[in-house]
Amino acid sequence: MDLLEYQGKQLFAKHGIPVSSGKAVTTVDDAVAAANEIGYPVVVKAQVLIGGRGKAGGVKLAANEAEAREHASSILGLDIKGHITRTVWIEAASDIATEYYASILLDRSAKQPMLMFSTEGGVEIETVAEETPEKLIKFHIDALNGLTRDEARKVVEQGGADADVLDQLADLLVKLYEVWLQEDASLAEINPLIITPDRIVKALDAKVSLDDNASFRHPEHEGLGDTANADPIELKAKEQDVVYVKLDGNIGVLGNGAGLVMSTLDVVAQAGGEPANFLDAGGGSDAEKIEQAVELILSNENVKAVLFNIFGGITRCDEVAKGLIAAFAKIQPTVPFVVRLDGTNDVQGRELLHEAALPNVHAATTMNDAAAQVVALAKGA
Ligand code: GDP
Ligand code: MN
Repeated sequence: MDLLEYQGKQLFAKHGIPVSSGKAVTTVDDAVAAANEIGYPVVVKAQVLIGGRGKAGGVKLAANEAEAREHASSILGLDIKGHITRTVWIEAASDIATEYYASILLDRSAKQPMLMFSTEGGVEIETVAEETPEKLIKFHIDALNGLTRDEARKVVEQGGADADVLDQLADLLVKLYEVWLQEDASLAEINPLIITPDRIVKALDAKVSLDDNASFRHPEHEGLGDTANADPIELKAKEQDVVYVKLDGNIGVLGNGAGLVMSTLDVVAQAGGEPANFLDAGGGSDAEKIEQAVELILSNENVKAVLFNIFGGITRCDEVAKGLIAAFAKIQPTVPFVVRLDGTNDVQGRELLHEAALPNVHAATTMNDAAAQVVALAKGA
């Protein structure tokens, strides 16, 4: 789960990383009231899950109440690369002498956490990595020992940070690692990490992604993320405990087991189609769960055909067939279905489907055959 900037900053503050105080608001009047309370100048910042807000007009300084009103009006509702701004964060403006970059993420190939630091902050780090890779310092962290202050200090020194702020930077990075570890983040990034003219180090931006697999350890994270812009189908799926990810295509996909569903998406793409979703019905899904899943898939209006790819292990193919039959009785889908049942009780499952004679349901025996059929049906529709 990706956090909005202000939510990331609140986690930073909890771990002692210096940030400016501010307030998150959703209306122009509340923005002005917050700005008056904080005192001018303030910065008005769009809270959307996309970088480059500054360039897109989503970050503006206001020197007085009139400007605060003007900027809040222009930023609330602003479309930044497809993300509509529903919330703005108002914070005390900072004076900037220097902009650095710092992040901690998981380097999957090295199987270790990695600290990155650069004195080239405030610009896209991908650009720095590409054009001046020597200015991006990477340091692998020993997961058992954690990041020590000495290690952090060496990294920023090697990166060419100003000598008078090395200690402050090292302290901040140790805390950033604490955020990453204790909050179960997969990314904790600060860009820019600023030095003020009076030589205070501070996080001016925050990009934090939390690992959803650890959310059970963090009831306090409930409600974080960009809930106002969340996809309604994905929200409903979450409520029903179904693993569903909306995609851009028109072929609904249901499978059991994340690996099988991923391969199904690949096979559909290989056959020239575009999946409309990822849906893992999970192991041992019963008829009721399948019925729910069909409703979810079909609530996406782009769906022109649906592919069921079931490999029965714990999941019994006859249960899947029963779920599909129940779903058809309830919602009477108007789009064609291609169903491949293989594995536990597949014969019984196919028999059930055959007897039910559901309209516009096509059987397939292999995954490739199923994909070819569903792509043809989606194109014909
Ligand atoms: P991003 O464009 O989405 O990465 O948003 P940032 O939060 O990084 O803000 C973009 C840029 O706005 C920063 O790199 C700063 O140059 C500028 N900015 C943000 N906050 C302040 C502030 O408090 N004071 C000043 N002077 N500039 C700011
Ligand atoms: Mn930034």
